[in-house]
Amino acid sequence: ENMNISELLTTVRDYYEASATDAGISFVVKEWAHPLNAELDRSLMLRAVSNLVSNAIAHTLPGGTVTLAATNEDAVIRIEISDTGVGIPAEAIPSVFDRFFRVDPSRSKISGSTGLGLAIVQSILALHGGSAEITNQLGHGTRVTLRMPVLAMR
Ligand code: ATP
Ligand code: MG
Repeated sequence: ENMNISELLTTVRDYYEASATDAGISFVVKEWAHPLNAELDRSLMLRAVSNLVSNAIAHTLPGGTVTLAATNEDAVIRIEISDTGVGIPAEAIPSVFDRFFRVDPSRSKISGSTGLGLAIVQSILALHGGSAEITNQLGHGTRVTLRMPVLAMR
């Protein structure tokens, strides 16, 4: 369906605001100048962004920040989920989208993870004709960039 990206990010913020606050983490949703809409499966895209926010909160210490932002470059929507957490070792970045891969379970504040979250994110983005990319902000946390076309390809 045609979805407003602002509404999507606000919904995710409503889900996670309390757990971020409980963890001592600031949760920032950046505003942007004009409305962004895209042809998306709402529940799948909510799942993708939620998985990323949950990862960000799980790997960020009290006093840190998780930021959600959306922009567009021509007909491509870009959603960024950034955190100021422990980061991902450069050598692990090529593996993090693999199913069941976890860097080191002891680095997460939340135990009992399965290592499927990012594999699911990548599949959901692929279904939308988009992509997911992880960038290490060296010593300063992790950034995940989602890209998807404004309109489904015909
Ligand atoms: P699940 O999401 O299935 O509960 P998970 O969070 O361990 O389990 P993924 O979401 O696929 O699995 O993430 C894989 C691994 O990548 C994590 O175990 C963690 O080691 C690392 N990782 C993911 N996101 C971050 C992040 N924002 N900061 C630091 N490490 C991360
Ligand atoms: Mg996860």
